[in-house]
Amino acid sequence: MNLYKQKKLEAKVKQTLKKISLSKKAKVLVAMSGGKDSTTLTYLLKKFGYNISGLYVNLCVGEYSELCLEKVKELCDNLDIKLHVYDLKKEQGVSVKNYWKKNPQLNHCAACGVLKKWILNKIARKLKYDFIATGHNLDDEAQTFLVNIFKGSPELSANTGIISKTIKEKNKFIPRIKPLYYIPEKDILVYAKQKKLRFLSGKCPYAQESYRISIRNFLENKSSKIKQNIIKNFERVSGNIQNFKKSKIQSCEICGEPSRGKICKKCSLSKF
Ligand code: SF4
Ligand code: ZN
Repeated sequence: MNLYKQKKLEAKVKQTLKKISLSKKAKVLVAMSGGKDSTTLTYLLKKFGYNISGLYVNLCVGEYSELCLEKVKELCDNLDIKLHVYDLKKEQGVSVKNYWKKNPQLNHCAACGVLKKWILNKIARKLKYDFIATGHNLDDEAQTFLVNIFKGSPELSANTGIISKTIKEKNKFIPRIKPLYYIPEKDILVYAKQKKLRFLSGKCPYAQESYRISIRNFLENKSSKIKQNIIKNFERVSGNIQNFKKSKIQSCEICGEPSRGKICKKCSLSKF
């Protein structure tokens, strides 16, 4: 990637931020994992002058979690960013392994995803952040859209996009933004390497073979153009998909967090 391509990637991210109308004054909490995507996202938001802090959710699964935390701390020190750490064992007295054991019907990543979303929203709201930024890229989003279609549940895509649609329920759900939404994964990797960003390149040892991985493999050698087309089509139909999902947001009877049902997804996984 030459300098021109680096600038092009940066310009694309700026364009997405403009579409979101993200103000430089808004308080943004970046979900950091130590991987290339959230590392690049943090670097770019800081470079562009946004008001960011980081949050690392320590799921307490041993060495991998500690290595991720080390990388996140290093980046925050280098960029002079405040870092919040949510330690699952300290906060809930369990590790994500307890969630996995209790919910064998779900693959590891699905249970992890529910838990991380719940924690991010709760912490961002408690600390009065205006937005949560995540490092999802073009490949992730194309995969999600296809997974939901192949599973016959396109409505699950209703709340995706560069900014979550639950923005109207802002006092309960902190809007989630995805500034790398239009950037292919391979470009992020090259950019991060060329900028000499230090990220963890090893994969999580607990990632399980899942439906998403078969979609990922299917898309792997497809061009970025094809992935962009998937996203464009999603954006075209997203207004209609939105109509599928009109359930009211209420407070979970157990934890009080916002939920579409009487009990939120996280609490239904954590009946220990
Ligand atoms: Fe959790 Fe899957 Fe990420 Fe590992 S790869 S941390 S199991 S979501
Ligand atoms: Zn709950």
